[in-house]
Amino acid sequence: MKLSRCLLVLGVAVAGALLPVRTLSAADTVSPIPSDPAARIAVLRAEIAAHDERYFRAAAPVIDDAAYDALRRDLAALETAHPDLAARVPPLAPFGDDRTGAAPTHRHPTPLLSLEKSYDYDALRAFCVRTAAAPGVGEPAWVIEPKFDGLAVNLVYVGGRLERALTRGDGTVGDDITAAVRALPGVPADLPAVPGIALPAQLEVRGEIYVPWADFVRVNADRETAGAARFVHPRQLAVGTVRQRDPAEVARRGLRLVCFGVGTVAPADALPGSLRLRLAQLAAWGLPVPPRSWTAATADEVADAVAAVGRARRDFPFPTDGAVIKVDDLARQRALGSSESAPRWALAFKFPPDRVATVLLAITVQVGRTGALTPVAEFAPVKLGGATVTRATLHNREDLARRDLRIGDTVWVEKAGDVIPAVAGVDFSKRPGHAVPFVFPRACPECRTATEERAADAGPRCPNDQCPAQQRRRLEHFVSPAAVNIPGFGPALVAALVASGHAVRVPELYRLQAQDLAALPRVGPETAARLLTALETSRRAELWRWLYGLGLPQVGETRAKEWARRHRSLAALADAWPEHALLFRELAAAGVRPTPPPESAGPLAGQVVVLTGALPTLTRTEAAAAIEAAGGAVASTVTRATTLVVAGEGTGAKLEAARRLGVAVIGETELRRRLRGP
Ligand SMILES: [Zn+2]
Repeated sequence: MKLSRCLLVLGVAVAGALLPVRTLSAADTVSPIPSDPAARIAVLRAEIAAHDERYFRAAAPVIDDAAYDALRRDLAALETAHPDLAARVPPLAPFGDDRTGAAPTHRHPTPLLSLEKSYDYDALRAFCVRTAAAPGVGEPAWVIEPKFDGLAVNLVYVGGRLERALTRGDGTVGDDITAAVRALPGVPADLPAVPGIALPAQLEVRGEIYVPWADFVRVNADRETAGAARFVHPRQLAVGTVRQRDPAEVARRGLRLVCFGVGTVAPADALPGSLRLRLAQLAAWGLPVPPRSWTAATADEVADAVAAVGRARRDFPFPTDGAVIKVDDLARQRALGSSESAPRWALAFKFPPDRVATVLLAITVQVGRTGALTPVAEFAPVKLGGATVTRATLHNREDLARRDLRIGDTVWVEKAGDVIPAVAGVDFSKRPGHAVPFVFPRACPECRTATEERAADAGPRCPNDQCPAQQRRRLEHFVSPAAVNIPGFGPALVAALVASGHAVRVPELYRLQAQDLAALPRVGPETAARLLTALETSRRAELWRWLYGLGLPQVGETRAKEWARRHRSLAALADAWPEHALLFRELAAAGVRPTPPPESAGPLAGQVVVLTGALPTLTRTEAAAAIEAAGGAVASTVTRATTLVVAGEGTGAKLEAARRLGVAVIGETELRRRLRGP
């Protein structure tokens, strides 16, 4: 019986390790687990420590949570069966440690515990029944909340003032991230006076820092345009940003806080004796709390509420990986107490990722607007998360080769980060005998030009600027809602425009006549008129949308906005940017008149300022806030859109760039003078 359990757990771990293959290398695969119990304990502890390191410190796990928890359960079973052996091997922390060694650390007033986890409804019901049967507990009222997927944080308020914010660390001591937390929207530096409620002398608030889906998508789109690596999951984005400890970046990337619990509170009766009422009190002080929670009285009601969270989570604007159930009443929580690592009055229920098996029918190669060739898995249509999916990107040639996907394979498809379908792994046991490795083409599948590979690229690309596929992708990007947003111009219409030669470049769209459009397949005179009206309106779209939509190298949304603030018209852009002057003039001649951003008032209106080095008295956040209050914009890198560089001690590359581009450089004293205005 012991053997079968062991095999079962090993099977789960190995399958789990295979799933997120995109981040897996040979060095990461699960080591064969030895049969000797002492050696197995050592191997499992090392394995878990390595996964903890990846999860907590690098925020880049290589196995999914269920597989990780299976390793933990296997270790716990071995340790229970062989306590003598377990004592001889160095112990493992009850959960990971997120300290980086780069930040000051402090002790939590009360340690942060982990939560017991459950993956199935029977275990959930059993937990509820067991809890209700504990002495002095009776039938407790339960609170069920979505489990936010982010980075745990502990806020310490002393006398109503935010004194410190710490990461979980090892549960006892965490990294100081106070400056980053102060930059989160809605985090009060001072708790406001609420009539009838005295401010506690000390208050520890437990929460999670997370990134909403919309900001995750926005930041990644920006990075993609700038040629930077995408974040795989919002949690990775949240952790990576907090680690930078740059408050401006925390605000720019859209990080948020949610508070769901209280640690130490002094005096002890400063807050109500119910979790729900406590959260209401935190909300009255302006702290963000979960937008929705559920209540339940019985095990079945708890299971129903958890299922309701599971249904509702698809529509949440933030990432969740489960539901947390807690006993509402604090006296009952105290009666239940905690084990060494987890409270006995709470449980985390983890939802399995939506995953289905299907057959890989083909691997096609897509040409992007810059010519990059991306392999795409085309599979038999399958229902996933309420939608039918038929294809998923495979990132790049190396990714495809590493995963050894073959046509005819049975593959698991899941929603990566719950949004984008991704091939999660191959069921090698079902591989047909005739399946052969995929050979990546050496020519562009569209125009047959031999591919090229530059060191800076992630893989091969089509070097042909006139490649019809690239032309279509460029126009598709331009008309998309993220850029200029021209209704009616879907991929089919764009393809017809390029194929017919009526419009292969953006300026040519603005020379289209009604008869050109009406001659295209499935476009009648009425549709043609509507399309022309949409084009007409788009001539006056916001300038940054135009700059972004043109797909100029290195111009993402952020840089497009900087340039739009600085230059304000196509004519000014043509002067400032000689290598694109022809394009800007051609657009102006075609009657394009983009709308510049509203003029801001203040002494630094229109200025794009870059801060570098340490200023004598102002912190970077204070300087940025003062510049923005004076109507200026703060940018992170020196480009030709930059109008001013404020330099302090210890400056380097940015100062050099400013000199090269002839941008004015000033110090703090001059900045203060300019902030006051003329
Ligand atoms: Zn091509």
